[in-house]
Amino acid sequence: MPSAENTKRKKIKATSHFKRIMAEHFLEADSAVKDDSQKVAWCTSVGPAELLTAFGFKLYFPENHAAMLGSTRKSNDYIPIANAAGYSPDICSYLTSDVGAYLKNQTPLTKAYEIESIPKPDVLAYNTNQCRDVQEWLSYFSREFNVPILGVNAPKAVDVLEEHHIRDVEEQLKSMVKPLERISGNKFEPEALNEAVRLSKEGTTLWREVLETAAHVPSPLTFFDGTIHMGPIVVMRGLQKAVDYYKELKTEMEDRIKNGIAAVEGERFRLYWDGMPIWGKLRPLSEQFASLKTCIVASTYCNSWIFDSFDPNEPFYSMAKAYTEIFINRSERIKEQYIADMVKKFKIDGIIFHDSKTCPNNSNARYGMPARLRENMGIPTLIISGDLNDLRCYSEEQAKTNIEAFIEQLEESKGE
Ligand code: SF4
Repeated sequence: MPSAENTKRKKIKATSHFKRIMAEHFLEADSAVKDDSQKVAWCTSVGPAELLTAFGFKLYFPENHAAMLGSTRKSNDYIPIANAAGYSPDICSYLTSDVGAYLKNQTPLTKAYEIESIPKPDVLAYNTNQCRDVQEWLSYFSREFNVPILGVNAPKAVDVLEEHHIRDVEEQLKSMVKPLERISGNKFEPEALNEAVRLSKEGTTLWREVLETAAHVPSPLTFFDGTIHMGPIVVMRGLQKAVDYYKELKTEMEDRIKNGIAAVEGERFRLYWDGMPIWGKLRPLSEQFASLKTCIVASTYCNSWIFDSFDPNEPFYSMAKAYTEIFINRSERIKEQYIADMVKKFKIDGIIFHDSKTCPNNSNARYGMPARLRENMGIPTLIISGDLNDLRCYSEEQAKTNIEAFIEQLEESKGE
């Protein structure tokens, strides 16, 4: 049996920097609520963060909060409360965890940062590029707090991204300017938006470079590290802080490569993870894969915050393009091609599809994709049934057995 030491994730030194800026992020939003000269905007994770930042709003991301509820394993205390309020157990368990926590007047921010409650918004902004649930989620809070909600209704399941798709979203983004001027009390400054998009571009490029260090054999980082260290690119897009952070993280990953340090000691197999993380089970999964000397080196999820198209010279147009062309918003054909490219780039031995019960939007095992990839590429695949936050949908024992059997299959195919 591998020792417990060998199954623990290797500590990333930049984690102290990460913790400091994440704490600042939440504390700044909390202070803004108490300061009449500052305003708070809630934004969806792939929503128009740069535009809100350009108006000087302090940002708060309900999905990030919901992931905290999941990773602290509190979601199942809250989901039934939202269910009782009429929100189905079948819809996004981020939404139901978050609404339930709000109805119970609890937040993990209290334990983590001594923040009493989530920051009351002055405005809520969404983009349905990822799903409809975010619109319903923010609409709930718009009614609760009696504050305005603005949104982009994106073209869905885009196959070939056409000019008219981008122009449509660009116009929707531009139409947010007037209401945001009114709500923020600030006039729109084009330079401020250019700067936010420039910083977003720099941050997201660095994030891409961090993730791409995992193409090295052995990989210096795992998907499980990625689910933590993606925090700043989700909540601090458009800010210098994210840029500074990812410079440090990238240097550390490059040093690991130079010094031959593997994230998983004795890496034998390299996997791709498709779908949402199972937030409440990251640690046992990370330990199981490490004990099997298997590194999950790449994922659709962590890549979701790579936005190659940002261009500070064309901020509205490039935001429209970047936020519409994301993986989750594409046709099955484009998604399949994307995963096939990732398999080659990251030298992947097998793919795990997490079929998340309450997030069909980010589950790609339902329309034959694993079978097609197996057939076309000869790549082994495993489907794990579970959920992002609702652990009632996940059988840990069954997943454990299936993962073990999958690794045995990889051993056999490699002739080990
Ligand atoms: S993409 Fe999935 S997990 Fe994210 S908000 Fe939408 S339904 Fe929830």
